[in-house]
Amino acid sequence: MSVTYSIVAPIYNEIDNLPLLYRRLTDVMESSGEPWELILVDDGSTDGSTEKIRELAADDARIRPVIFARNFGHQIAITAGWDYARGDAVVIIDADLQDPPEVILELAKKWKEGYEVVYAVRAEREGETWFKKFTASMFYRIIYRITDVKIPVDTGDFRLMDRKVVDVLKQMKERHRFPRGMSAWVGFKQIGVEYKRAARHAGVTKYPFKKMLRLALNAITGFSYFPLQVATFFGFISAGVSILAIPVVAILRLAGSHFFEGQTTTLVSVLFLGGVQLISLGILGEYIGRLYDEAKGRPLYIVRDAPRD
Ligand code: UDP
Ligand code: MG
Repeated sequence: MSVTYSIVAPIYNEIDNLPLLYRRLTDVMESSGEPWELILVDDGSTDGSTEKIRELAADDARIRPVIFARNFGHQIAITAGWDYARGDAVVIIDADLQDPPEVILELAKKWKEGYEVVYAVRAEREGETWFKKFTASMFYRIIYRITDVKIPVDTGDFRLMDRKVVDVLKQMKERHRFPRGMSAWVGFKQIGVEYKRAARHAGVTKYPFKKMLRLALNAITGFSYFPLQVATFFGFISAGVSILAIPVVAILRLAGSHFFEGQTTTLVSVLFLGGVQLISLGILGEYIGRLYDEAKGRPLYIVRDAPRD
């Protein structure tokens, strides 16, 4: 069967969102008049979403459930969606209806005009705390500044990608992934479409601050050496300062000055350098840990149940 649109929705404990998500997606996709499928990736839900997904799939052959053996995280769930999608265009959408399904038609319009990646830009966000909006905004801007790829700001994973793009992304097997960065990195003809991000329909966010921080680290380490360069920068600064300071201090002492006597000066500089060194080690550790994970080469995800074709 040939499919035009594959809609991919990662699901982690979204039982109260599933029926409405299905209904709204069906309405929108029916109106497109083209064949479509819905890939529901169950990322280790524990609230009965898994059973609900199976129920929906039993009634509608267009639903293809991919059931993970445990929680692997949002980014990995998206990856599994890419792997199982068969459509000419693949759309990633959140399951909590923050990304209105109706916007898919606008994304599809741009795709028909010849764009290969159409990403949805959050012009407004509703129903989110100020802290979330502030940290998200900072996150996008910092990533934009320090990474080598120009990842569009205020843009989440909600996007449509052409088959060509998805086939390239499927070859990128990195473990600590940042899908929106990867989809910017590959190039192709890209364009943004603005939309109003709604409030969550039901349930609570699955992205506490800790997970957001992890995602930010994935984005930074995955797309730049900036943190490593900062360590080098501090190294040069402190080496430079000491090269200048050593003769000055020596001459002053020889001239009989008591200006640099005492423990405090030593203590402060030792603490400062010790701090900088530990931070640099930590940064190195982040990169080495990631290297180690890649070297192990474990599968990105494990499925308990997935469509066979
Ligand atoms: N999600 C997932 N696995 C996770 C966390 C989240 O599949 O470990 C899904 C979640 O079900 C939702 C989407 O990723 O469909 C976005 O999550 P959420 O709405 O909690 O994030 P927020 O919109 O608050 O940033
Ligand atoms: Mg959400």
